[in-house]
Amino acid sequence: MNEDEAYEYVKSTLKKEMITPYHRDELDIINSIGSCINCGLCINHCPVVASVGINKFSGPRSIAVELSRSPPEYWSTADKVYLCTGCGTCREVCPKNVNIPEIVNAIRSRILDHRPDLVPKGLMLVKETITKYSLAFEPWEDKLEKEESRDMRRERLGLRFVPDRVKENAEVLFYPGCQAEERAQEVREAAKVILDYFDVDFTLLDEFSCCSLPSHLMGDATTARDLAKRLKKKVKKLGVKKVVTTCAGCTSNLADLADRDNWGVPTYHLLEFLAEVIGFDRFAKAMQGSNSSEQVHVSVHDPCHLIRHTSRQVMDHALTILSLMPGVRVTASEAHDSCCGGGGMVSYHSGDVADAVVAENISALKKTGADRLVTPCPLCTAQIENNLFKSGSTIEVDDLTVFIAQRLPDKE
Ligand code: SF4
Ligand code: SF4
Repeated sequence: MNEDEAYEYVKSTLKKEMITPYHRDELDIINSIGSCINCGLCINHCPVVASVGINKFSGPRSIAVELSRSPPEYWSTADKVYLCTGCGTCREVCPKNVNIPEIVNAIRSRILDHRPDLVPKGLMLVKETITKYSLAFEPWEDKLEKEESRDMRRERLGLRFVPDRVKENAEVLFYPGCQAEERAQEVREAAKVILDYFDVDFTLLDEFSCCSLPSHLMGDATTARDLAKRLKKKVKKLGVKKVVTTCAGCTSNLADLADRDNWGVPTYHLLEFLAEVIGFDRFAKAMQGSNSSEQVHVSVHDPCHLIRHTSRQVMDHALTILSLMPGVRVTASEAHDSCCGGGGMVSYHSGDVADAVVAENISALKKTGADRLVTPCPLCTAQIENNLFKSGSTIEVDDLTVFIAQRLPDKE
């Protein structure tokens, strides 16, 4: 019996007592609770507390300190832990490095194990979808209709068609993520245009599967581990040297998985890839030949999964890239790095909370006078776009990958 099998065996013997031993990689996270000094900084910075009030969401310190530290009692917190968007702000400001977003995921995992009746129904539906299709969204039933939708989006945005490629030993695996694979297909198409423009030897997966982040965030640790294992196998079989993605959540999750499970293959968000592998000089030269003469005034939203779960440098790259694009003027929003409310699976069961969180972004954005918002994540794009539309605003929202691809010159 290897260590993982032994862990599963012990787990099954304790299930009746509603006790689950922590996995090796969870122990440091859980132990970090012990160093909390009750300073309250996390509460002052939590966007959910700010949006819905301390009575509805008692905040990160309550999760870290006041809740029982005994797994059998975690489910008494179910009404609170599912409202955390996982933005990571509390961890960023915490002077003692208490890892609250991951503590939340661990508590959710115990609740799912022992009291699935307390898990919000919307999350159980996503769990069913992931179990059935290995995707966070139901896939298109008709492949032809999916292609027609893709082509309509591509043509509306003026994106050149770059055929899919699947091959072994390519330099790069382009991994679009569930949202761009099934819904925001224009992001997937735009990334292929950019990679092809710079002659990147890339491949896609022959059969796409979820990176495991949604399962991890809802506390479905078993499915998360299965999906991660399956994806690692596919990446290793393809023999690629790098993974490039256009989704903020996939970027941070794949980087964490590669580190935890020794993939030996680094993950880049496309912005990092442009900055660090293609290089700003080459990008700037390409943009000198841009066909677009459009003067556009944009503001930028920073996805939590890039700035707080990956590196703030990614958004520095975004600003440099925008500065190299002719006709683009950027005005910073005072809430550029505030959570959009779309994380932590909150929008799947408590849309009112997710929408309350994004309100700060929307109001700050309107003050910038920009006529467009760009952001390098298809999930942030959808969350902000829906709420801007509902507010009656005419500000357009573009995924930054699409915005870049539209402005590249035709390939010679
Ligand atoms: S991760 Fe974000 S939403 Fe969750 S408790 Fe921390 S600051 Fe609040
Ligand atoms: S910021 Fe950190 S140390 Fe301060 S109360 Fe929050 S969890 Fe505790």
